[in-house]
Amino acid sequence: MTVRRPLIAGNWKMNGLKAEGQGLARDLAQRLNKAGGVDFDLLLCPPFPLISTVVGAVAGSGIAVGGQDCHAKAKGAHTGDVSAPMLADLGCQFVIVGHSERRADHGETDALVKAKAEAALAAGLIAVICVGETEAQRDAGETLAVVSGQLAGSLPTHADSGKVVIAYEPVWAIGTGRVPTTEDVAKVHGALRKDLVGALGADGNGVRLLYGGSVKPDNAAELMALENVDGALVGGASLKAEDFWAIAQSC
Ligand code: PGA
Repeated sequence: MTVRRPLIAGNWKMNGLKAEGQGLARDLAQRLNKAGGVDFDLLLCPPFPLISTVVGAVAGSGIAVGGQDCHAKAKGAHTGDVSAPMLADLGCQFVIVGHSERRADHGETDALVKAKAEAALAAGLIAVICVGETEAQRDAGETLAVVSGQLAGSLPTHADSGKVVIAYEPVWAIGTGRVPTTEDVAKVHGALRKDLVGALGADGNGVRLLYGGSVKPDNAAELMALENVDGALVGGASLKAEDFWAIAQSC
């Protein structure tokens, strides 16, 4: 059986000023230090302006830092955008691509998400690729077709288990307090695992599959116990050290 080390990732979204971000990151670094050896990896994805502060705050703790998006190109005339090499240069090891808020707010397609993931890999970053169905797609029974299609369209050409992480985030569960049943999560993650093995061969078994969407301290344990759930992508609950830490400990 392939052993996958759980990854608990905090997606801070557009939240936090410098002092708060630094406080939260330091708090988590202290908790991790105190705990000694743990069986999970922690990742913090602050907004771009806080990346340097957070990298400094977690230095030496083992906590990784990531961006929430990157441009598909390494540099050039793209006002307001941030490239993957810039994130790597700041000390990031990861970058989230294809979050549903980017797909919806910025019209990001699978092809663009794939290009961004490829840019991430080229810069030496691990791409956290997000997929997930809307409520209408779920009601129409299209969940598996939608997420499989997004995965096939967004997976970079040279993906392997060390370079990509997949996050399943049902759009209707994000920030709503609603969570799919564990049976539904298991079904989607099982299908994604099959797709990954189809695309990458046996190495697909090593890719970490995160669940995201209203993960809280009180529902994390039963989600994390599922066979193909290898961690969580946490939004709202990642803004409180106590909650994020409790989620991590439920792995
Ligand atoms: P949530 O967000 O935990 O606040 O639902 C998850 C996400 O969008 O990554």
